[in-house]
Amino acid sequence: MHELSICNALVEQVERIAAENRAGRVARIELLIGPLSGIETDLLRRAYPLAIAGTVAADAELVIETADVVVRCSQCGSESSVAPNRLLCGECGDFRTRVVSGEEMILKRLELVGSDTKL
Ligand SMILES: [Zn+2]
Repeated sequence: MHELSICNALVEQVERIAAENRAGRVARIELLIGPLSGIETDLLRRAYPLAIAGTVAADAELVIETADVVVRCSQCGSESSVAPNRLLCGECGDFRTRVVSGEEMILKRLELVGSDTKL
């Protein structure tokens, strides 16, 4: 299951940050996921409890935000937010665009408990 390994990698990253900040536990994990990342958020949510069990994030709330898809047009140079299934330039309508945002999964924010640091 692809999403479980993504979740495990995420929890490893969270554990590392929590350790660096000497946090006792993690209260909340906020993710920004691009619609073109190929990550199924439903599956990710299902894998999440398995990944956090027994870790410093064991009772952390998971918040998933969907990122916009942004393309840059090779013809007119403008950047526009588009629908994930319609990667056309918002200015001139050309199809020769490059995705500049929407393919990523970003750990946007962590809420740590037992530490003053907020990320
Ligand atoms: Zn254009």
